[in-house]
Amino acid sequence: MVKFLLKIAADLQNLTNLQPQGGCDDPSFSYLFKLKCENCGEVSPRETCVSLGDTVPLPRGKGTTNLIQKCKLCLRDGTVTVIPGRGKPLTQEESEAENYAPLMLFECRGYEPIDYVFGGGWKVESVI
Ligand SMILES: [Zn+2]
Repeated sequence: MVKFLLKIAADLQNLTNLQPQGGCDDPSFSYLFKLKCENCGEVSPRETCVSLGDTVPLPRGKGTTNLIQKCKLCLRDGTVTVIPGRGKPLTQEESEAENYAPLMLFECRGYEPIDYVFGGGWKVESVI
């Protein structure tokens, strides 16, 4: 099991606090990833959508996860679990310093996220 922290950077001009519409732990915010199978190396052809508010029960044991996906090539199941509480809005100061802001932590089993795709659902504040 490996944890991946998604960090974002953006060029904010007269704007600050870039974050998902409902805040960093917005349950309906969709994260789009390309996933690579850790077993066979197959990259899923389409982006996979994960959100904090979508939960599915784990196939074994107790608890829930946010995504279970079967690799099309080797048919192994992998899971992605969203872990809230780590994100911070990207401020103008950090943008100017070319820093990244942590957005969300993901615990991945069987998959490695290799590409994040920016979708909609963001909000930003004006500083003027
Ligand atoms: Zn595979």
